[in-house]
Amino acid sequence: MNTVELIRKKRDGETLSEEEINFLVSSFTKDKIPPYQFSAFLMAVYFKGMNVEETSYLTRAMLNSGKIVRLSSIKGSKIDKHSTGGVGDKTSLIVAPIAAAAGIKVPMISGRGLGHTGGTLDKLESIPGFKTNQNLKKYKLILKKCGAVLIGQTKEIAPADKLIYALRDVTATVESIPLITASIMSKKLAEGIDGLVLDIKTGNGAFMKDEKDAEELAFSLIKTSKDFNKTVIAFITDMNQPLGNYIGNWLEVYESIKALRGEFAEDLLELSTTLSGAMIFLGGKAGSIDEGKEISMSLVKNGKAFDKLLEIVKLHGGDLKFIKEPGKYPKSKVAEKIISKEDGYVSEINTYELGTAAAELGAGRKKLGDKIDPKAGIIFKIKIGDKIKQGDVIAELFSGSDSKIENVKKKFHRLIKYSAETVKAPELIKKVFS
Ligand code: URA
Repeated sequence: MNTVELIRKKRDGETLSEEEINFLVSSFTKDKIPPYQFSAFLMAVYFKGMNVEETSYLTRAMLNSGKIVRLSSIKGSKIDKHSTGGVGDKTSLIVAPIAAAAGIKVPMISGRGLGHTGGTLDKLESIPGFKTNQNLKKYKLILKKCGAVLIGQTKEIAPADKLIYALRDVTATVESIPLITASIMSKKLAEGIDGLVLDIKTGNGAFMKDEKDAEELAFSLIKTSKDFNKTVIAFITDMNQPLGNYIGNWLEVYESIKALRGEFAEDLLELSTTLSGAMIFLGGKAGSIDEGKEISMSLVKNGKAFDKLLEIVKLHGGDLKFIKEPGKYPKSKVAEKIISKEDGYVSEINTYELGTAAAELGAGRKKLGDKIDPKAGIIFKIKIGDKIKQGDVIAELFSGSDSKIENVKKKFHRLIKYSAETVKAPELIKKVFS
């Protein structure tokens, strides 16, 4: 087959066959198509889309690029959770230990930072020693021992997504329903799960800015899950402001540690326990999502979820010192407070730019292979609807570089709008589908 001809076909809005999509995915995964050609193909898909059949062929091609793990030798329901990506979204670090403490098996394959959003792998790797590239044998062993394993795509599992995901991150080809569907589902279906909880974000910090697109993405993901006989619950949730208050890799681990010790930001508590509640329900350990939510809260209160986090980190090779005493983590070289210049109610937060600002401070990548600064990021202290006075500290910036801090500081105030009237906070959980 002729790669240029296939790129042209998609560029001109034509439909690709299963063989053509298989050819593109398997050739790229085997290094037979260079990244510049595959990037052009991704951009063509971004603009011209894919129909339901093409999306399903792409998902299968990416899934079949590696092994589909069989977990039948491990007892219990295997349920995972995946989010379509947001700013400050650290729920994976919280729901995995909660669900595992409830007796669910959580085999989680995640990604790195994507576009302006953070990624679970980069967050976990900010814990010294934490290994996210476990082989298949170790993946099963960790899952069996502690009930949760958190790894990235590997050469064995979802290798096509490992490569395509990294390329999309640096070619502005993330916000595409077929590409997101195939990326998420090729990983999730490879894991060996029975069921899946999906958190589909919508708002100015999400890949799907408006709710209609988020619903379309939800239906695409649900359809694929059902085609593969997986039970699924999908939530549409708000991403018009960061989730919790911490943005950046170690900062988000730090906030998750606090949360699992019972010190939750309100929105983070609500969303995390709803998602883990749904996982516990899907795994048959609760009669409803609400009951699963109550179980989640009690596992946080009695310390079992935090103990589970310690177990998980230890089995992945992570240093427990920083989990037990997060205050001992090395400090960022430069830190700067942002002080409000205005009085009023917070009415709008440019969450996309806030995610981009965290990346600029060192928390994200601009090109393939860029190194992440685990300490870089933002503590963002305000929420939509909060009453702010001039002189209040609204954020703290952390970076390894003075010039990066200066650049972000210059534009920071433009990211927030205020109103003289009171403002209602956006509804966090908007819809549920199954
Ligand atoms: N999460 C993924 O795994 N892939 C995407 O494309 C978006 C979010």
